[in-house]
Amino acid sequence: MTFNTYRKEKKRSYKKNAFNITNWKYDKEGDYFTCPNEKQLTFRCRSEKKDRNGFTRRFKVYECEDCTGCPFRSQCTKAKEGNNRKIMYNEKWEQQKEMTRALLSEEKTGEIYGRRKTDVEPVFGFLKANLRFTRMSVRSKEKVENELGFALMAVNLRKFSAMSAN
Ligand code: SF4
Repeated sequence: MTFNTYRKEKKRSYKKNAFNITNWKYDKEGDYFTCPNEKQLTFRCRSEKKDRNGFTRRFKVYECEDCTGCPFRSQCTKAKEGNNRKIMYNEKWEQQKEMTRALLSEEKTGEIYGRRKTDVEPVFGFLKANLRFTRMSVRSKEKVENELGFALMAVNLRKFSAMSAN
């Protein structure tokens, strides 16, 4: 499976966006990024955020040494005048994305993903968008399997009736 921004991140516009930190130089030894204004964004602290599903995400916070008078400021940051640009870097997530990219660049996995895109993803898209099936209403593995089974059966019946009509 890909991550939600996989396709967006493959676009040329994304790779060429000079203000996107994934396009900035990173110095592993010094643990800092270098921005388009040749300033260093150094590590300041660690931070945690809980998402709406209760999952805790851990970030490394970096801050630019000095954004004062930067000619790129309006394109680069919404930080108030006098404040420097800060970035929240989720190391684990970035590693995970890198691993996914590497896997998908292999011929065999790329082929499987191509099939998944046409065979599997439309089914989940239909379930979520048209049937509003976005969460399970039961608990326990057995009940979840049954509920999902009914939902998939409905999708298959729809496919079957569409094919029979042709
Ligand atoms: S606003 Fe700050 S981080 Fe962004 S390019 Fe300018 S100096 Fe660098």
